[in-house]
Amino acid sequence: MERPRLVLASANPDKVAEMELLLKGVAEVLPRPPDLPDVVEDGDTLEANARLKAVAVCSATGLAAIADDTGLFVDALGGHPGVRSARFAGEDADYADNLAKLMADLDGVVPAKRTARFRTVALVRYPDGRELVATGTVEGRIAETPSGERGFGYDPVFIPVEGDGATFAEMGDDKHSYSHRGRALRALVSMLDSPPVPDAG
Ligand code: IMP
Repeated sequence: MERPRLVLASANPDKVAEMELLLKGVAEVLPRPPDLPDVVEDGDTLEANARLKAVAVCSATGLAAIADDTGLFVDALGGHPGVRSARFAGEDADYADNLAKLMADLDGVVPAKRTARFRTVALVRYPDGRELVATGTVEGRIAETPSGERGFGYDPVFIPVEGDGATFAEMGDDKHSYSHRGRALRALVSMLDSPPVPDAG
């Protein structure tokens, strides 16, 4: 069967690299057109933000687009940063700023109370309006000090429960066997062979 052709809706090179790896051999992946303006991710949910990105790229290219939106949900912070994970320390915050704020907000919180999860919603949008949506979650806890050089974002402080105590940033590609993005994309890929029938109404 011919591999589906999907335009990546993400402009984040770290996420693009992971998605290309996870979709290798499964889909023909095309890059996001560089001249497209940034999408304002002002949805209230991961799914809404994934949809905003996928719709923008699908409309601009006329091709099926794949987007992911991810949040880190920390129990001791009432679920924050959650859907605002990219802008936790402010609108122009970078990974280091967000990580520093997370460490500061959790200062003094004991290891047993540092439970958290990453959640990803991955979404394919077709030009006729059909959609495929899948979610992936990984449970873990936030380390007291960052560790590891690989990965990106909050990876240096996220320790998945299924691992051996290493942070995602210490793992490299092993991260994907149980990462939020790995799980969401594998679930999405399993739906690609049988896209839903267009809405008759
Ligand atoms: P986005 O809105 O899906 O682009 O992601 C929100 C933010 O979550 C990113 O800016 C990163 O800081 C963080 N993030 C997303 N995915 C990961 C991941 O796999 N590991 C660590 N941090 C991530």
